[in-house]
Amino acid sequence: MRKILLLNGLVYLQGKLIRTDLLIAGSSIVSQGEYPDLPGEAETIDCTGLCIFPGGIDPHVHMHLPGPSGFSSDDFETGSRAAIAGGTTSFIDFVTPCRGQSLIEALHKRRIEATNSLCDVKFHVSPVEWTAKTGEEIIRCIREEGIASFKVYMAYRSSIGLRDEDIFKVMKTAGRHGGLVAIHCEADEEIENLKNGYLSEGMTSPKYHPLSRPNAVEAEAVKRALNLAEKAGCPLYIVHVSTRESLDYIEKAQSQGLPVYAETCPQYLLLDNSMYDHPFDRASAYVMSPPLRKNEDREALWQAIRDGVIHTVGTDHCPFSLEQKRRGIHDFTKIPNGAGGIEHRLSLLYTHGIWGKRISLGRFIEVSSENPAKIFGWYPQKGMIKEGADADLVIWDPDANQIISSKTHHQNCDLNIYEGLEVKGLPVHTMMKGSSLFLQ
Ligand SMILES: [Zn+2]
Repeated sequence: MRKILLLNGLVYLQGKLIRTDLLIAGSSIVSQGEYPDLPGEAETIDCTGLCIFPGGIDPHVHMHLPGPSGFSSDDFETGSRAAIAGGTTSFIDFVTPCRGQSLIEALHKRRIEATNSLCDVKFHVSPVEWTAKTGEEIIRCIREEGIASFKVYMAYRSSIGLRDEDIFKVMKTAGRHGGLVAIHCEADEEIENLKNGYLSEGMTSPKYHPLSRPNAVEAEAVKRALNLAEKAGCPLYIVHVSTRESLDYIEKAQSQGLPVYAETCPQYLLLDNSMYDHPFDRASAYVMSPPLRKNEDREALWQAIRDGVIHTVGTDHCPFSLEQKRRGIHDFTKIPNGAGGIEHRLSLLYTHGIWGKRISLGRFIEVSSENPAKIFGWYPQKGMIKEGADADLVIWDPDANQIISSKTHHQNCDLNIYEGLEVKGLPVHTMMKGSSLFLQ
């Protein structure tokens, strides 16, 4: 069995950095300690001056997502390559069936699409309707397929979204059988009214995208989702929280002891809605739902990470090329929603969280790896460095710099919403189950 000894790194162990060696055999971490006499046949990697973190886990990505302007531009292979280049070793994607298709069939099909991933992959399964079979299929997903989470959409009702009464049924079934419901909170009817209002007045540019999805549209939906989950007795995971008003509702529910988890994304922590003032080719890159918000929202999101109200930072990685975005050049509602980011999640969080003194190293590890592993059933095999865990590791240079650019990134897209931003803190070596998949 191949043995690798990581020498003299600052290893993140039990909540702090400890200077030590780490021995890996095959795909697992074997032990940690000092090895003055190297165990015979081990290869060694000198990690002096470098940190060793558990591999990143991105709880929210959309590889090869079908849509009217074609598939999102990263498939499982290119997207996972970009993930690894950024220090992320596992991610959770989605199974979104067509209406009429069984959840199980869609899951099996999606698993085949994901076989060329370099990362470990799990799935959230999305019931997109409630039929006579849905309840039974959810139970089968949990019992026979190892699925722990079900994602429902309050928005997009004409295609994949559900009405509240059907969301409640999903929650009741999942909750009763040990599952969790992940939810996209935006009030569909209000968005439709606002969108149609702008379009009917000839207001078609990307800047009307955020105006048709104001803060209240998210917060109102969050409030409804929390009520439904409480009544249904189901743990709730609210994806891509972007507004301070939503956080107020979430915090209140958590303080009442309800099992409510919240996720945000780097784009909501770092970018703001002034991006929509640019000309179409630039502004359309930032068309995503929910949209970018104001500075006060960003500050509230960082505070919520510090307070433990937000548990995870996912990316909602869903890149589209400029050509795909141009489908909406005369109508902002036709711009495919989404942007890439899986490659930059850790370095952006490290730069603005750790170097920016907004969060502790412990919080950085929690939101980027440990908590996603705990919430979605990977812990302690992943999400922490310990004997017996998967050797999913990122060897991190806290001082390395890079300017982000679509010209140099690994994501398969000619756009990058972080174009020109400088990061400090980068992986130099990413290891997936003991195999070196990225070496700077
Ligand atoms: Zn998403």
